[in-house]
Amino acid sequence: MLVSEVMLQQTQTSRVIEPWTRFMERFPTPRACADATLAEVLTAWRGLGYHRRAKALHDTARVLRDVFDGVVPRSVKELRTLPGVGEYTANAVASFAYGEPVAVLDTNVGRVLARAIVNRRLRPSEARSLAAEVLPRTQVATFNQAMLDLGAQFCRATPRCEQCPLATRCAWRQRGGDDPAPLSAGVSRAQPRFEGSSRQLRGRVLNALRDGPHSRAELSVSFTGVDARRRDEVLAGLVRDGLIMLRARRYVLAGE
Ligand code: SF4
Repeated sequence: MLVSEVMLQQTQTSRVIEPWTRFMERFPTPRACADATLAEVLTAWRGLGYHRRAKALHDTARVLRDVFDGVVPRSVKELRTLPGVGEYTANAVASFAYGEPVAVLDTNVGRVLARAIVNRRLRPSEARSLAAEVLPRTQVATFNQAMLDLGAQFCRATPRCEQCPLATRCAWRQRGGDDPAPLSAGVSRAQPRFEGSSRQLRGRVLNALRDGPHSRAELSVSFTGVDARRRDEVLAGLVRDGLIMLRARRYVLAGE
């Protein structure tokens, strides 16, 4: 559950299924992941972007091994102490893995709350309170999953109200007005274009290094059409984030 929630951050479910299956086969327990090198974890991350998440997951596995006896804790408070685990991920793991009565609030749930429940833009504290207020007394995990699915399948950025099971009860659908979702708490802004982004360039470098060490010149194919200054910034950023390092004038995955 923890691995899937980390992988699902800013990533569509369909893109996560295959890497998640592969990752879990390679690292079936926190201890297995903790005992591996970061380079092995980065290699298993193939197919996913935002590689800082892989490093955070590796760091988390080591904390689980060394502090929590190899077991993912169930309380939100303890989950929040793990590297890279924010409010949403902690609540999702507590709810879906352990059935704890806590609300999950992500961009999907944020849209449903703002549109279907109140028909107005919510501040962060209001969205948190409302998400907790609408929780049922039982089957909290099922309810949380339903809210996530409503947002992902129907109450999308461009909503599919005609097919939505909440259509007859939805406050925005009933009363109309401007869409309250876009600037409401929890609702993420549109992601910048991937094509030509630093995210794309970082992914290319890491893909190349998964096959072995590369000199700066050998990495030039990853930077076709990119000026030297931007190339150096991307490489320096990857070093700074602890994802790659220089060894004997060649770049390698960190921890190799
Ligand atoms: S009716 Fe439309 S706006 Fe309301 S919850 Fe469903 S998809 Fe969202």
